[in-house]
Amino acid sequence: MITELILASGNKGKIAEFQHLLEELNIQVQSMKEYPQIGEIVEDGTTFAENALKKARAVCTATGKPALADDSGLMVDYLDGAPGIYSARFAGEGHDDTANNQKVLELMQGVPDKERGAQFFCAIAIVLPDGREFTAEGICRGTLLHTLQGEGGFGYDPLFYVPQLGKTFAELSMEEKNEISHRGMANRKAVEIIRSL
Ligand code: IMP
Repeated sequence: MITELILASGNKGKIAEFQHLLEELNIQVQSMKEYPQIGEIVEDGTTFAENALKKARAVCTATGKPALADDSGLMVDYLDGAPGIYSARFAGEGHDDTANNQKVLELMQGVPDKERGAQFFCAIAIVLPDGREFTAEGICRGTLLHTLQGEGGFGYDPLFYVPQLGKTFAELSMEEKNEISHRGMANRKAVEIIRSL
């Protein structure tokens, strides 16, 4: 059993989420921000899993402690899986969520509803100091609207419509989103892996 886990992220929301998920296992979750020796990790993999593994390996090597990293994004069927691993910077370095959503809407202009399928994908990697490596993945399917809808969430949430719920990700509570989202699914698998260590 492991007793601590370093998250390859400085995102307070993600850290709080894992702290909550791992509470009952008595695992202390820390951010990589507390280990300045780690430095910058370049995400130059060609898949979500490669990027997650690269980050987790770097954090594990630098700290000597078990590490967990994730990588996620939106994949649009009509765009052959784009923006994919480039989701965060689709409209260019330094651009925000609004610009990214605008770029997707422009590329999807005139594309009919039945060809607007898309999915969110999340890969999680766990790397241990003894060399063991694990990955978990989560997918959530939906469709892209023609305009933004909803105020909550982040990133591409206001574009991503879930037909079963009749709502976009940006119209769901955090709990509702977590139940069906790519990240929720991958997180639950990761917790099971950690539980089995
Ligand atoms: P990261 O893996 O947290 O770095 O996320 C990469 C990018 O993918 C984000 O900046 C968003 O643009 C997009 N993304 C990932 N997950 C979500 C989500 O749940 N909702 C909306 N956008 C997301």
